[in-house]
Amino acid sequence: MLRVAVIGAGVNGVASAIKILEHYQDEKKLNVQVTILSELFTPNTTGDGSAGLWGPFLLGGTDESKVHKWSRDMHLFLEQIWLSEDAGEAGVCLVPCVRLSSDSNVIVGDFWRDIVYGAVELTAEQLEVYNKGRDVKFTSGMSFVTYTSEPIKLLPYLMKRFVRRGGQVEQRKITDLESFVRESSYDVIVNCTGLGSRQLLNDDDVYSVRGQVSRVRANWVFTAILDESDDGNYIIPNTESVVLGGTHQERDYNTDVCAKDKRFIIDGCRSLLPGLKHSEHLFDWVGLRPGRVQLRLEAERRGNKLLIHNYGHGGSGVTLCWGCADDVLNLLLAARVKAKL
Ligand SMILES: Cc1cc2nc3c(=O)[nH]c(=O)nc-3n(C[C@H](O)[C@H](O)[C@H](O)COP(=O)(O)OP(=O)(O)OC[C@H]3O[C@@H](n4cnc5c(N)ncnc54)[C@H](O)[C@@H]3O)c2cc1C
Repeated sequence: MLRVAVIGAGVNGVASAIKILEHYQDEKKLNVQVTILSELFTPNTTGDGSAGLWGPFLLGGTDESKVHKWSRDMHLFLEQIWLSEDAGEAGVCLVPCVRLSSDSNVIVGDFWRDIVYGAVELTAEQLEVYNKGRDVKFTSGMSFVTYTSEPIKLLPYLMKRFVRRGGQVEQRKITDLESFVRESSYDVIVNCTGLGSRQLLNDDDVYSVRGQVSRVRANWVFTAILDESDDGNYIIPNTESVVLGGTHQERDYNTDVCAKDKRFIIDGCRSLLPGLKHSEHLFDWVGLRPGRVQLRLEAERRGNKLLIHNYGHGGSGVTLCWGCADDVLNLLLAARVKAKL
């Protein structure tokens, strides 16, 4: 029996746990027990307030070719869900998306445009539509079609899928990773604690990227519109509400809603889409993205135990979770071959 503990029940922990469990069960080669141990679960993880739009964002110096592979894997996974009977329950939607830039140095979607559907540059005439009444004009933009998978729905769906296959769940905060690895009966420990890794591993390369958003009811908005400028606003439709964003304040740990940020969000989004002034405000939300100088996905041996790290997904944890989980599984399989785990 191979005993695996996944620490963390955000999108990355749950995706890693499912990948491992489903792989071994489908192979029928080995008995495996997978347990998710976490302080918090949905609806209280970082992803739960996010719109879950597919798109690499705020990933520090993470290698682009890896980001491409991870995010492509997630796009394929979302495509499978979208085409299955689970799409509604999992909150997976296919949405038109427009990304705009007023900075000539920013090339929208440079390295991932082959992953989404039908990416085309906006013409000058199309840009004009978004430039009406704006002081700072957009100079380039891209339109394409991609997925949203709002974690408030995706996570319960994935948790249900995990438990249905026999996965175990334990509510627990790990305060000392060293002794947990040494003393617990698990053969493999997968660390998916996001921002929690800053404390758990004393990893100073991890930092918060604060994000504040507003949720509104605007049932005529079916298109995601994002301003790629550094302090840009965005509008992303979900199944029951529309997310207006947003901020990305590095090393800011304040989880309270800030009135000044709210003004920036509401005014900025209305300037993109004036009709939003007729939307109904539902609530504001703040989350701390797990930023890192670069995403950490690697394995290390601790005696006869294997410790795999999968954290630091910045503003793209949803976008990357399935691809990263695939690498977690591959690290585990490679280590087992080497050490006969
Ligand atoms: C405003 C906002 C908008 C966003 N929009 C998008 C988007 O549109 N698309 C996208 O791809 N991404 C988006 N993101 C980013 C995305 O939400 C995160 O990257 C992602 O949620 C990180 O997931 P995670 O599983 O790595 O970490 P988390 O979701 O933070 O989960 C960490 C888990 O570890 C647990 N944990 C931590 N420490 C311990 C411990 N010591 N012991 C036990 N358990 C522990 C926590 O309880 C939690 O369950 C957004 C983020 C914000 C804030």
